[in-house]
Amino acid sequence: MTTAPESQSQGGSQLGNFAAGLLASSLCAAFLNLGMSAFDHPGAFRFFPALFLPLALTLGIFAGAYLLLWGVATLPLRRLGASSASIAVALGTFSSLLALLWPVVAVLRREVAWKSGLVLLALVALTLLTASLAALLLSDRWRGRPWVRSRAAALILAAPLGAALALLLAWCLAYPLSASNAAARLLVSGAFALIGAGTISALLMLSARLPVLRILAGLFLLVIASPVLEGFPNHGANPPPSSVEDDRPQIVVLITVDTLRLDFVEGERAEPTPAVDSLLADSVVFENARSAAPWTKPSVATLLTGLSPLVHRANSIGVGLPEEVKTVAEYMRGAGYHTVGIGLNEHLDPSFNFHQGFELYQFPARGDYGLSFGSMLLSRLRPNRYPDLFVSTEGIADVAVDWVRSNRDKHFFLWMHILDPHWPYWPPPAFAPPTREDTSIDDFWGDWETVTNVQAGNLKLSDGDKNRVRELYRAEIRYADSNIRRLLDALKELDLYDGALIAFSSDHGEEFWEHGHYEHGHSLFDEVLRVPLAFKLPGSRFKTRIGAPVSTESLTPTLVDLLGLETQAHGFSSPSLQGYWNPEVDPDPPEALFANGTYHYGEKIMVLLRGRWKYVVEADTGRRDLYDLLDDPGELQSLASSRQEVVAEADTLLAKRIASSDGLRRALRIEDLPTVQLSEKLRARLRALGYAGSDQ
Ligand SMILES: [Zn+2]
Repeated sequence: MTTAPESQSQGGSQLGNFAAGLLASSLCAAFLNLGMSAFDHPGAFRFFPALFLPLALTLGIFAGAYLLLWGVATLPLRRLGASSASIAVALGTFSSLLALLWPVVAVLRREVAWKSGLVLLALVALTLLTASLAALLLSDRWRGRPWVRSRAAALILAAPLGAALALLLAWCLAYPLSASNAAARLLVSGAFALIGAGTISALLMLSARLPVLRILAGLFLLVIASPVLEGFPNHGANPPPSSVEDDRPQIVVLITVDTLRLDFVEGERAEPTPAVDSLLADSVVFENARSAAPWTKPSVATLLTGLSPLVHRANSIGVGLPEEVKTVAEYMRGAGYHTVGIGLNEHLDPSFNFHQGFELYQFPARGDYGLSFGSMLLSRLRPNRYPDLFVSTEGIADVAVDWVRSNRDKHFFLWMHILDPHWPYWPPPAFAPPTREDTSIDDFWGDWETVTNVQAGNLKLSDGDKNRVRELYRAEIRYADSNIRRLLDALKELDLYDGALIAFSSDHGEEFWEHGHYEHGHSLFDEVLRVPLAFKLPGSRFKTRIGAPVSTESLTPTLVDLLGLETQAHGFSSPSLQGYWNPEVDPDPPEALFANGTYHYGEKIMVLLRGRWKYVVEADTGRRDLYDLLDDPGELQSLASSRQEVVAEADTLLAKRIASSDGLRRALRIEDLPTVQLSEKLRARLRALGYAGSDQ
């Protein structure tokens, strides 16, 4: 064994150790702290402001803590005989422990998936081991044995850095960098380089003569190089072989816009939406489509599976999509397509199992910077600037466009879900309607308490206020449209648009006091249920408009049918729609349309008979309403008592539907609902979207 020299001048070495300790520990602690946050909510860190600001603040916090600790601890530790290197190491270890502590506690407070639990345990064990070694190093036992000390010091300095590297590596493997934007890619690569350099310096500086450490350094270099290289787009050079059959389109795109009410996009009262219009002009358009549920979770669950909310039952806040159902992404993946989901909406969080079948599932939370100290400080420091830092629709479109550009040579299925017309309405200035004198609603409509007060009748809105709310909603639609334009333009520019199969829809509409309510989830009136539904076929082979009443429940069955994919034996709750436009295919119109899954004010179920009779039952009270949509499209007068023969017919169909849904559940072996333990954060984010109270 060689002995490391200890011949530096005392002052120089102290300053050097202090600086090295400051740099290494604050970098290391900041990356560990942010890395843990990234594990908890990776999507939030894919966007520049969400990564850079918390990182800078976290670094500052740990540098400050280190300075403070150095000032307080140096004298007593020196009295105990510790060298400045030992003090730097001990303080660095302490910082790392601190960096891990908060995210670990926060994550362990709720149910942790076993994998992330193992990672956490390993990290805690590693940090504790490091701390113990540091304590040992400071003890009398090793004083006077410099080779032991220098080697141990090197390992101790390198261990937390190694942990940070491993964390970043795992993150990059789980969330391929090629899908992120350039800034985030640069930051992560920079992080690798910095921590890697720190690790190597720690190893070489303190024990340069030990070859084993050089080998270790080489290994770390490999670790650094692999994800960084992976991160840079290498498309075109060597695309992976695809198993997609030749006659299938190269790409399939599903665009869904949250809360997009049909009559605000099409018809006399529509907002100008040039991008959507251009897509619809190339498509088969269903003018009379209804969503299967009036709020996001059950409706999107149905859109993605072709199964009724009565089958998947992802109908309440705490419930996820059952593992047993097969999503459109799983069908696509089975056919050899790469699958990617990019969007925003807390109800579609991976904890609710909506990522089934997606190789890459990017659903970051709004305004969420994770659990890092810097993130939390940021949210305290800039509460009013928070909206500016939200992952915007533009950010979502950025990721989608970037992904398309990097994967243009592959066969892929891309789902982009735009949240923006959803409350709160905060259109960017370029889309905001001109300010108006007769209302000040802009100032407080973003506050959910105001909305609930209006809902409860405690606060009355003037007609001017209500018009303004509609105006803001319309502005958000224009903003969403401009971002759909960006995706369509990218597809056209890359020559992918023409051959693509593109489906377009929404999960539900929005009420604006037509029946006394605002928002959605309360009722099954047409302002909530009627949504756009369109299919742009490869080569726009058919372009037509179809007036028959259909359900968004048919979206996945139609895609699966168009691609000729093998379905499961039990099929779907709704038929494919291809027969409506393709003369070579027999039409298969459904017997009736159904919708259910109300979130507020109890469960309601709708039956739509022959496109004319709309029957709604309230499950709790047994109240029945029947509307004749031909004579009364506004659903203002219930005919339930006068048209009892229609009610009886609808009841029979409903009973049949419930029985067939139960049969489908049995065939799919769906048993217990996967109830999700909501974290405080997710709960808070759902509250921020207006889903207050319910914890079921
Ligand atoms: Zn929604």
